[in-house]
Amino acid sequence: MLLLNPGPVSLSERVRRSLLQPDLCHRESEFFDLQDEARERLLATYALDPAEWTAVLITASGTAAVESMAISLTPRAGRLLTLENGVYGERIAAICEQYGIAHERMRVAWTRALDLEAVAARLDGAPPGARFTHAAVVHHETTTGRLNDLRRLAELCRRHGVNLLVDGVSSFGAEAIDFGDESLSAVAATANKCLHGVPGVSFVIVRRSALRQASSRAYYLDLGRLASLQDRRDTPFTPAVHAYYALVEALREFAEQGGRPARHRAYAALAEQVRGGLAALGIDTVVPAEESSVVLRSYRLPAGMAYASLHDALKASGFVIYAGQGELSKTLFRISTMGRLSSADIDRLLKCIAQVLR
Ligand SMILES: *Cc1c(COP(=O)(O)O)cnc(C)c1O
Repeated sequence: MLLLNPGPVSLSERVRRSLLQPDLCHRESEFFDLQDEARERLLATYALDPAEWTAVLITASGTAAVESMAISLTPRAGRLLTLENGVYGERIAAICEQYGIAHERMRVAWTRALDLEAVAARLDGAPPGARFTHAAVVHHETTTGRLNDLRRLAELCRRHGVNLLVDGVSSFGAEAIDFGDESLSAVAATANKCLHGVPGVSFVIVRRSALRQASSRAYYLDLGRLASLQDRRDTPFTPAVHAYYALVEALREFAEQGGRPARHRAYAALAEQVRGGLAALGIDTVVPAEESSVVLRSYRLPAGMAYASLHDALKASGFVIYAGQGELSKTLFRISTMGRLSSADIDRLLKCIAQVLR
């Protein structure tokens, strides 16, 4: 079965086999070597300086990394602006609501781009007692495949002295992220999307200067505590040891294959192959290709076809596609190009879709 859903992904044999390594006690030096290598390689993915940045590992899915980032890096006296154009942006606001973090929301329709002029006006218009210290955004909004314009948003935040927190769960490892912009404080992501590891471990890439001002609002997800223990080759809880094995092997494979630019190129070729093939069958993208990620794209369901019938027919041929969320479930379907996939796999997928349409 080939997984075309946005994580977990189809594994390479090398990563799958890495799960069969020796049992490890997480209080022994062998585990801390593994933890160190994972943290170093995560920073190397974007050539980040370890003096300035750190990678903090969390045994949990991607949402936990986003939650830990938002609740730890927004100071108690801070104020967060959440920028939302999909399920995952709305999730950040729900996290803030849950923890009672001072925040305001800016929402646009799920299929629309963020309105950066409106964001600037909102930052400018905040009264002196309620200035925003932080903003949060999803880089690649997996709801639709839209790639939000991180570069322009970071610029805007820099001009306003606002720190930017990024959900990069479905872009980290494939899309460009300008860590050089000083407004960028942290990016949360996971092992089992563009990095091709297994579910169970997620992480936050965070500026050390931002960590020094972190607040402690949670027990398990306390980013500052996790960071300081991991820096001392320690861990507060039992990590998902086998998921760490897979993450490290996936990161080795990633580096050998040419790193982030190579992964971007590989995904782009597959995503364009899917787009071109579906266009020839009369199926359009929901978001224009130039505003989409290379990681996942959403397509309009052909008139009169229910998602379930397309899904079930493709599953019978060995492909798992992904439904739209909420209202969009009636009108679109999604195809991700993450994981171990080849151009021949996409050819076969397109032939199967053509057959289903006939
Ligand atoms: C997948 C995803 C998440 C959530 O990840 P889980 O691992 O399911 O918790 C968060 N944000 C984005 C943008 C995602 O694509």
